[in-house]
Amino acid sequence: MNSEPDVVIVGAGAAGISAAMALAGHGLDIVVIEALDRTGGRGWTRKTRAGPLDLGCGWLHSADRNPWVGIAERSGFEVVRGPTAWGSQFQDLGFSPEEQRSVREESSALFERLSRWPPASDRASDALDPHGRWTAWLQAKSGFGNGDELERISARDYVAYESSSTNHNWRVSSGYGTLISSSMPQGVDVHLNTPLQSLGLSWRRIEIGTPVGVLYPRTVIITVSTDALSSDAIAWPQEFDPWREAAHKLPLGNNEKLFLEIVGRSDFQAETYVVGNPRDPATGSYYIRPLDMPVVECFLGGAGARRAEQEGAQAAFDAALAQLRSLFGHRACKCLKPLVSSDWAGTAPIGGGYSHALPTHAEARDKLASSLDARVFFAGEATHATDFSTAHGAFESGRRAALAVIESLRCP
Ligand SMILES: Cc1cc2nc3c(=O)[nH]c(=O)nc-3n(C[C@H](O)[C@H](O)[C@H](O)COP(=O)(O)OP(=O)(O)OC[C@H]3O[C@@H](n4cnc5c(N)ncnc54)[C@H](O)[C@@H]3O)c2cc1C
Repeated sequence: MNSEPDVVIVGAGAAGISAAMALAGHGLDIVVIEALDRTGGRGWTRKTRAGPLDLGCGWLHSADRNPWVGIAERSGFEVVRGPTAWGSQFQDLGFSPEEQRSVREESSALFERLSRWPPASDRASDALDPHGRWTAWLQAKSGFGNGDELERISARDYVAYESSSTNHNWRVSSGYGTLISSSMPQGVDVHLNTPLQSLGLSWRRIEIGTPVGVLYPRTVIITVSTDALSSDAIAWPQEFDPWREAAHKLPLGNNEKLFLEIVGRSDFQAETYVVGNPRDPATGSYYIRPLDMPVVECFLGGAGARRAEQEGAQAAFDAALAQLRSLFGHRACKCLKPLVSSDWAGTAPIGGGYSHALPTHAEARDKLASSLDARVFFAGEATHATDFSTAHGAFESGRRAALAVIESLRCP
């Protein structure tokens, strides 16, 4: 590895890979260091006997303007364009049509209050209807979307995401994680199992400490998650304090996935969906036979994901099976066997699901996206003002940082 490259990119997730894509072809010496033994970060497709399963991002959200769609198509990946099965409870199991209508109304009313009459506290829960019937479901939904309950969500941040999302949700048949990790450009010097341990700044140079030696790049792009940036696992320089304070205000929520394999014959219908229990804020959300694969994908957010992390994978599978049995019956669920689950909170270099702004701190995203001395640049999903928490937001942030690096290297 060249110890004096033009650019070091820290982290090989969607943002780091996108930065490498934008820098490649500019005649620059680029080194990527990644703590894990694989690229992709929170984009991770596990190849299983049931098919390619995304443990992290799976949906190309805002797909009609998502740059990964074009990348996929140019690279020969099959993009499966909607519709999704969300929002319609299979055979209205445990959730009557009247209740589903009433949930939709309460959810729209919450969004209207958040956007038109935002609470002075900026705390999203302050816009809940105190007489609402479906607060538990709205909290569960916040868990899926934000990774945390509405008490800890900035109303401004919430509205920023929802207003810019286009509601087109597509998929890549071989997995979003496969697409992301295979997009690292050829010829970029990528070092896996190589965590950044320390970063030193002097007026003359940047020092990147790793287990295999010190690098002295002209510029650096940091793409680690907000939890990694705010933790003390890396020896950061004092100059980073304002960025680390911003990261504290944008913590990762909790989001996990479990996949149950459908073994043998079953009546589970492809591309159908159920909410486990809309009266339980920790409920799982179940996508049945996505893309016709023999699995049920259980998505957990907020309280549900925290419980799974605390109690462990076996207990989480048991809880998911209990919810499915209560809807489909014991007999129908006999064919379901635990297959694979995520553990994002326990994956040390990442630490959770995706970022959300704490009340009154939506502006921290702008701080996190700013550069230091035109030598240190920050990217990653949390730095995007509207598309945070997504792989396309991470992509755009990586490209933004790379273009700023090119500009800065042109004008020393
Ligand atoms: C369960 C779940 C479901 C999701 N679903 C969707 C979805 O459907 N659609 C969507 O768009 N998004 C989804 N997301 C979010 C999406 O996956 C992320 O927003 C996106 O992948 C983040 O990319 P990133 O590059 O910003 O960060 P990361 O992917 O976290 O990349 C940062 C990289 O930095 C590395 N790193 C950390 N510390 C160090 C260090 N010291 N040295 C070197 N490397 C380090 C990490 O290992 C990691 O690889 C989901 C996420 C989860 C967890």
